[in-house]
Amino acid sequence: MSDSYQEEFWAYCARQELCLQQCENCGELRYPPAALCAHCLSEKFIWQSVEGRGTLISGVVFHHAFRPELADRIPYGIGLVELNEGVRMVTAIVDSDLSALTAGRKVSLRFIPDRNGRLLPCFRIVD
Ligand SMILES: [Zn+2]
Repeated sequence: MSDSYQEEFWAYCARQELCLQQCENCGELRYPPAALCAHCLSEKFIWQSVEGRGTLISGVVFHHAFRPELADRIPYGIGLVELNEGVRMVTAIVDSDLSALTAGRKVSLRFIPDRNGRLLPCFRIVD
């Protein structure tokens, strides 16, 4: 089984587009990219672009770079974000007041380059 879906996901990010896999069998959106639908185990999917807006479920601030690609951004926030489409993503929270990572804050997608120039989907607080 190929994992080309990983490459495709990052190719969309490179164009500053957040696309998630949507199961062709049951319609469920999923993230992170995976070979099978967790609901029905189907391998069939299409790419569905999402709006990039959502709500913070919870967040924490890291003072150590557990993710090396974010080493230049210490301290940084990591949040559990629920997209308006219903999918939850663990993601970096950037360009935001990190003392305000509380549940219910509205967030918006922002692509941030890592050290290798790859664009990472991150979110910032917008309310
Ligand atoms: Zn499915």
